[in-house]
Amino acid sequence: MLTTLKGIVQEVSKIPVLEEALAHLTKRLTSALKVDSCSIYLADHEKQHFLLSATHGLESSAVGSVSIGFSEGLIGLIGQREEPLNIVDAQSHPRFKQYPEVKEEKYHAFLGAPIIHQRKVLGVLTLQQKKKRRFSEDEEAFLVTLSTQMALEIVHAETRGYLSFNDETSRSKWQSKISGVPGSPGLGIGIGFIPDYKVTLAGHVARRSSNVSEEISRYREAVGVTRSQVDELSHRIEGQVPSDVQAIFQIYSHLLDANSLGHEVEARIKEGWDAASSLKFVVENYIQQFRNMSDPYMQERAVDIEDLSSRILANILGAQSPSMRVVDPGKAAILVAEEVTASMLAEYATTKLRGIISVRGSNNSHAAILARAMGLPAVMGLSDAPLSLLDGKEILVDGYSGEVIVSPSQSVRKEFQILVNEEQELSDRILEQAHLPSVTKDKHPISLMINAGLSAEMENSHFTHGEGVGLYRTEVPFMLRERFPSEHEQSKLYRQMLETAPNKPITMRTLDVGGDKPLPYFPISEENPFLGWRGIRLTLDHPEIFLVQIRAMLRANVGLGNLQIMLPMITSVSEVDESKRLIRQAFHEISEEIEDSDHVLKMPKVGVMLEVPAVIYQIPQLAKKVDFFSVGSNDLTQYLLAVDRNNARVSELYDSYHPAVLRALQAIVHQADEHKVPITVCGEMAGEPGGAILLMAMGYSKLSMNSHNLLKVKWVIRSVTKDRVEELLETILDCSHPSQVKENINIYLESIGLGGLVRAGS
Ligand code: PEP
Ligand code: MG
Repeated sequence: MLTTLKGIVQEVSKIPVLEEALAHLTKRLTSALKVDSCSIYLADHEKQHFLLSATHGLESSAVGSVSIGFSEGLIGLIGQREEPLNIVDAQSHPRFKQYPEVKEEKYHAFLGAPIIHQRKVLGVLTLQQKKKRRFSEDEEAFLVTLSTQMALEIVHAETRGYLSFNDETSRSKWQSKISGVPGSPGLGIGIGFIPDYKVTLAGHVARRSSNVSEEISRYREAVGVTRSQVDELSHRIEGQVPSDVQAIFQIYSHLLDANSLGHEVEARIKEGWDAASSLKFVVENYIQQFRNMSDPYMQERAVDIEDLSSRILANILGAQSPSMRVVDPGKAAILVAEEVTASMLAEYATTKLRGIISVRGSNNSHAAILARAMGLPAVMGLSDAPLSLLDGKEILVDGYSGEVIVSPSQSVRKEFQILVNEEQELSDRILEQAHLPSVTKDKHPISLMINAGLSAEMENSHFTHGEGVGLYRTEVPFMLRERFPSEHEQSKLYRQMLETAPNKPITMRTLDVGGDKPLPYFPISEENPFLGWRGIRLTLDHPEIFLVQIRAMLRANVGLGNLQIMLPMITSVSEVDESKRLIRQAFHEISEEIEDSDHVLKMPKVGVMLEVPAVIYQIPQLAKKVDFFSVGSNDLTQYLLAVDRNNARVSELYDSYHPAVLRALQAIVHQADEHKVPITVCGEMAGEPGGAILLMAMGYSKLSMNSHNLLKVKWVIRSVTKDRVEELLETILDCSHPSQVKENINIYLESIGLGGLVRAGS
């Protein structure tokens, strides 16, 4: 059964056009399960109906024309109940409704299963049989399993279909289709740019074209270019490689002859496909044939064909190799990547970057935090979109809703541009107030600090408006190198940082790698990286790394004295004891090494991050050991709710406004106050307008955030009274759902005219 299932899914996924793929599926299913009929109905949520989209056994002319309302007939019932329906005689079922066009009078037995993706019913898959009988448990299980797999295929195909549409009407139908997870608020317009884009046959999405002669000459030209590239390569390596490798080029040359591949490719072009898609179809077919051969030598040839064809494809598409691709500095760009990394952003930050799209990651992955730090809108977890179709296209990124629109129509673009302008006006207004103090209307001061370190280039912007650095993430200089940075290199960097604000505290966090922040030269492979060797756990196991970093920090602090050291991922008091022992050791070493007797080395304050739930119950013990606390609400949310902050599939569950998180945050500040330990929040929530006011109402008087958010939060604080937000907190702490919490916050922000901070538009 499993082999049949896999085989069917594989075959279907290879067919580029959804309608054809579904038709093939119904045909294959009828023969594999030996049933009389199989049909697929796809949901149209706008029109609130299911449309018969493919059938084998019902009247074929009804495909595309018969629709069944969401609350009608057996199909509607399956959609409503979201579960399979297995009936001996469909026609005697009370919900049976006759649709004469489909001609199903002869069928009695009926089995249907819903096709569901992320809780949304996409369609219904049915089997029918003339004989009255109950479908077996095996058949039912098979159909349900197949439906779950088909859900993904349909989502992918829909996205591909949408992106391949050329005419305005079809496009507008699908315009809102690509949604991901909101990663960083804001709106951006630019041309999609994929730094690590590789042209592959598998990744290429088929398109139709009616311009036969143009497509044929495009194909022939590409073959010509490929031939000279192959000849050149062959000459270059002549005598340097064994003769059997050299022979591969003869095979390439032979394959390039018009009589081999060319004939078939041109035939597909004449069927109405463009040159690239025609090549894809022909070559994928050949590759399959070669792979199925029993002779291992012949099987291996599939690789050669694939390689050669990718070269032709690249030439058809006029694509360049990644190393030759650079962002056109004159054009606004949207960075698109499988996984946006800190180094990518560092590389392209100076270009006119307007937004970020990451296929992997979620709203609190470090790439999203980085995007927020750079003030760039970002959409994460866009896993349903084929990347290749975003390259070189105009893209609108809505970081508030997590939506992406590709090749927008003129009217949509115009509307979007109005929102972008309004957003710009709002940030200009916020900037005008940047120099004013951070106090509420009823004169309660809130100290705002900066989160720094993620992106080297934004460090100085708006720096003066904060009261120091609440979190300096030291991992980026480690991530951007090919080896651990030396003590001297680190010390230089930290000195620069401490000198940026010599009279303000700068809180440097010791190395917090692991989780979603890997070091390229220190690979860690773990089943559960977020529960694994992360932060202080790793550095205490490698005192040589920890000590070098602390020594570098202490050395950088000589003559300045504004350094504070913070320890990440603390779970147990013993980790604090051990860290402090190493800090003292480094302190004595550096004291002895300092030759300049004018400068006395100052022991910095040492604090811990509160981000593992276990510490909530050890605050009295920790309070005796440290000078300050800082709440890492990003990880605290992840570990309290048991939701991976980097996994888009559970992004809806990751929520710092979950009532449990809010209550934990309140308990933490009360205990810290009781033990008279200064406390800050440095997680992302502190930099969100709603989060900041809630934290203030709980009693937090120090918040640390990226410099872009600092100005927004200051603006919010200056617009509220402490009394009013305390009332709001009271209502919110009674809520049972995160959505109610956010609704209350948003209503409040709208009521004081600050809605533009949490959604698009003024
Ligand atoms: C946090 O966990 O809230 C935090 C500030 O640290 P990071 O996001 O770097 O894990
Ligand atoms: Mg953390």
